[in-house]
Amino acid sequence: MAKPRFVFPEGQCYDCHSCALCCPAYEIGVTAEEKQRLVEQRWEEDAALAGQPFFVERKRNTVLALGEGGSCVFLDDGNRCRIHAKFGEPTKPLGCRAYPFVLIPTDAEVRVSVRFDCPSVAANRGRPLADHRPWLEELSAQVLPPNARDLPPPAFRDGHRLEWPQLRRLTDALLGVLANQELSFTRRIIACVTMTHLLQRAKVDKLAEGGLKEFLLLSEEVSLKDASADDLDSPAPTGRGALLFRQSLALYGRRDLPGDLLRSARQTAARTGGRFRQALRFVRGSGAVPALQPDFPQADFLALEEPLGEPAGESAEALLRFYTGKLTGMTFCGRAYYHVPFVEGLYGLWLTYPVALWYARLFARGDARASLAPEFVQRALRLVDWHHGRTPAFGTRSERGRAAFLSSEECLRPLVAWYGR
Ligand code: SF4
Ligand code: SF4
Repeated sequence: MAKPRFVFPEGQCYDCHSCALCCPAYEIGVTAEEKQRLVEQRWEEDAALAGQPFFVERKRNTVLALGEGGSCVFLDDGNRCRIHAKFGEPTKPLGCRAYPFVLIPTDAEVRVSVRFDCPSVAANRGRPLADHRPWLEELSAQVLPPNARDLPPPAFRDGHRLEWPQLRRLTDALLGVLANQELSFTRRIIACVTMTHLLQRAKVDKLAEGGLKEFLLLSEEVSLKDASADDLDSPAPTGRGALLFRQSLALYGRRDLPGDLLRSARQTAARTGGRFRQALRFVRGSGAVPALQPDFPQADFLALEEPLGEPAGESAEALLRFYTGKLTGMTFCGRAYYHVPFVEGLYGLWLTYPVALWYARLFARGDARASLAPEFVQRALRLVDWHHGRTPAFGTRSERGRAAFLSSEECLRPLVAWYGR
């Protein structure tokens, strides 16, 4: 089989630095062959794992069991993978080896991106992604179906379809706007939002019949002009928009782990009650922000409405890498994102901007800092991408309805401008 042509996001680097943060976060499925390999490694003879089950049989698959602390059973006390340490990286299950890469096949190439919940990705630590080509060739041979090139593109909008080359031109145009150094990063996102509104209203038949070039020329010009003239002086979000936005924030702040299933009924009930109370405080939106995760800092809702300045320098660079990765990898729609159409996926992507910057403000305020230092932005992006395309709640009808309301022309630009300044 011919080697795939990979498309990599500009400027993104990665190498694993063995922080083991991904190990408790994912449930790792194993094939019959992988299970057999692990059985032959005779882990029951390891004194530290005595009496420990290694697999859980589910209705449709087998997954690695969790140890006492709720992490993968093969994670040792020093946060190292026992399989990796004893038998080498290639003997780990493919699910572990594939992370944090995401491969999306199109008609002509395989688009590559990486998940930002990995700290090495968020901090851009390691080699350029293109240097991972040999591994990606091996990975794509194992995970992509033989007919990957024939898989249909995601729907464009409202049941309308465009072909892969047309969708590529649209994402390329948005990537061009994101890379426009003449605008601040918040203005670039505003320009992308305007282009998405224009796509939402465009006559799909005309785009499909050769009107795409003209549309892109016009919409890019209008969007950039509007964004550069934007005074970013929106009033604070109020009413239903503000309420729904805070509910989205609460959802992004949650972290459900496979180890949660090991909780007792009493622990689960206590947690559910705690979450309900936290959700009510997000509805109220005043007083102290409840700590949705144990290491979240303390801050008041009101303080997080105060601007910390537009992201610039390394903070803007991290944001640029995040959105460039999502667009280049086409992981914001279709199979990679709850099977939503292209335009709906774009809206979901731009909505992550005010969410990420709200959390960056929380982390900055909690650290008594009055600026958006890159570490806060990177941490916020890790939080956002932990859920993006992965947490089932975001693909439900109610959450998509909430996102649709927040994506309206009345809500989205003001949210981006308010939290992006
Ligand atoms: S989170 Fe990233 S850096 Fe950490 S172990 Fe996983 S892949 Fe490696
Ligand atoms: S098998 Fe190793 S790499 Fe995979 S989740 Fe378990 S500890 Fe982590």
